[in-house]
Amino acid sequence: MVLTFPAGTGSLHLNLVEPNLPMDVSYHNHSNWSDGLDSVKAMYDAAKAAGLREFGLSDHYVVPGLPNLNDKEWSMPIQKVHQYVDEVISYCKSISCDDFTPRVGLEVDYFRENWKDVAAILDTLPLDYRIGSCHYAFDFSIDHMAEDWEPLTQEQINAIYVEYWRKMMEMAQTGVFDIVGHLDLPKKFAFPCSCDLYDIQEATLQAIKAADMAIELNTAGWFKPCNEPYPSLDLLKRARQLDIPVIISADAHETANVNRAFDRAQAFLAQAGYGTQRWRYEGRKRLPLNN
Ligand SMILES: [Zn+2]
Ligand SMILES: [Zn+2]
Repeated sequence: MVLTFPAGTGSLHLNLVEPNLPMDVSYHNHSNWSDGLDSVKAMYDAAKAAGLREFGLSDHYVVPGLPNLNDKEWSMPIQKVHQYVDEVISYCKSISCDDFTPRVGLEVDYFRENWKDVAAILDTLPLDYRIGSCHYAFDFSIDHMAEDWEPLTQEQINAIYVEYWRKMMEMAQTGVFDIVGHLDLPKKFAFPCSCDLYDIQEATLQAIKAADMAIELNTAGWFKPCNEPYPSLDLLKRARQLDIPVIISADAHETANVNRAFDRAQAFLAQAGYGTQRWRYEGRKRLPLNN
């Protein structure tokens, strides 16, 4: 918001950031097509009622790339992805209005073993954006349960982190995705890595920049054992130095969370050196979101 004082009061212009800008979008969210609790309709209706300018579902689409990973119950059935997109688009058309633009996306797992096959399917889907995520390092499920981490040695934990970052870098290098999902996910259950990840993180950020992708400030991390958003302030500052765009997202799995902690997210972005510029996606093009 720019305040311009009336003539005669000088040429003072103030740029004020409102605590809850009505210009928010939230693109990383789940319905009961994957592991969310609520229906497509309920999620969009809640986002509209919450005053979001744009909202998109991005249900999980996990095509297992490793022989020992079966189809995942927290993903939509992989053969139903077109049906999902059709249903979401059809509801989006019915709810769209001047103040609220619904979007359609997917959160897609990257596997180096099958990404080209997955990309060919994605090319047949009229999505507004594709979120690229890694929920697996090797066949280890990173974000399922703390109990999966408890028996690991520090050496195994370190190997998971390194493999995760390697996969994230590769995922960006494919050029198939638009937004990076929860950049530093392995910290979720607070089992930290004891080795130096700086170089592989830097290479990943450079790959994200080269692919012209955005990252998300995913507020769900504040409500997990790690108690901070994805990514950390340190990583966000490094992304800022490279001028990588950020999209605030709730990663909501129920209607109550469609814009959870967005006020904190605004402050966190400012702390990392980001201004008030926000972005939207339409037909996989990133465009400025004007106030
Ligand atoms: Zn995810
Ligand atoms: Zn998600």
